[in-house]
Amino acid sequence: MNCIFFFFLVFLLCLSSKVSSQNQNMFDFDDDLCYDKNSPACTRNSMDICSQAGQIISDNLILTKRISVYIAVENLGETPYYAATYSTQQPYNNPENGVVIYYPTALIKQLDPDFDYDGPDMTIQINSYYDQNILYFRDDPIEGFQVDYLELILHELQHGLGVFSFWYSELINDSDLFPDYDYEAEANDAITFYNFKQDIFDTFLVSLDNNNAQTTTYVEDLNNMAGPSSTYYNTYDDFYNELRNKQQEQGKTYTHDMLTMTTTSHKLGFLPKNGGAAIVLDTSFNPLIDGKSIIHFDDELYKTSPEFLLIPEMEPGKKLEDKIQDYENARQNYIKLAELHKNQ
Ligand SMILES: [Zn+2]
Repeated sequence: MNCIFFFFLVFLLCLSSKVSSQNQNMFDFDDDLCYDKNSPACTRNSMDICSQAGQIISDNLILTKRISVYIAVENLGETPYYAATYSTQQPYNNPENGVVIYYPTALIKQLDPDFDYDGPDMTIQINSYYDQNILYFRDDPIEGFQVDYLELILHELQHGLGVFSFWYSELINDSDLFPDYDYEAEANDAITFYNFKQDIFDTFLVSLDNNNAQTTTYVEDLNNMAGPSSTYYNTYDDFYNELRNKQQEQGKTYTHDMLTMTTTSHKLGFLPKNGGAAIVLDTSFNPLIDGKSIIHFDDELYKTSPEFLLIPEMEPGKKLEDKIQDYENARQNYIKLAELHKNQ
């Protein structure tokens, strides 16, 4: 399944968002989980903006099945995010070299007519604690400290469509980061290991310092070291130590390298199989922050580029349309400059 097609359209959709609606809006937004009724995120206006975001994506992707999005609104107090998205992911196809690959249901249903699923494809959670920092009523001028709700929803929808990783901070053990895995918890902290897993986004991660080597091969090798499926380990520590020992025996440093790459700037990239330049992912947070590290573009490099939509923290004080105009101009100037250099 060639999912990269989707990723790139999603990344670029922002630029053509001025095009008037051509396609049917394929997103259904459900406000059943709007718990904070005082929040502007629980109003008709907010749902209209969600629909607008859904229309922008529908106009830029070929969608054949409807995508179901739950909007959950709650006052969660101080969190590192204004919003977070939980993408529904399911294993699909046979494991690749023993590693089970998960895909977002929003994507599988577009490509496989036999895929039978009608639950929510994603849940966007809005933290109403930050309502003052969000411009919900887009006819109003935007304050310097506010972010645009339309941009926020577009950003979150991309996570729901698959910009989502299975590399979690809770799988850091000493100076190693392990990939997520399927297992059965047994008595006395023992485990039966089945397999490591990745999602489709993870399969395109590359090491920028190592000739864009795909990290998915690290996971496949680790899977062989830890397996076969149903291997029993007396404790979690035994499991991690065994993987450390086996890597040492084979002269590999996968798990150590993964922790370094996910917590040091400009080390980890996202590169589709059909080539092009790798996108530099944001790995500037140390320690690793789930939902912030890896699944965004490098803040410093892309903040004022046409790819601004996927940086970890939205730049406040500008509406979506102003950013599109400003940063598209920035790209045009860059192209002109590059051509000028080429001709010299
Ligand atoms: Zn995000």
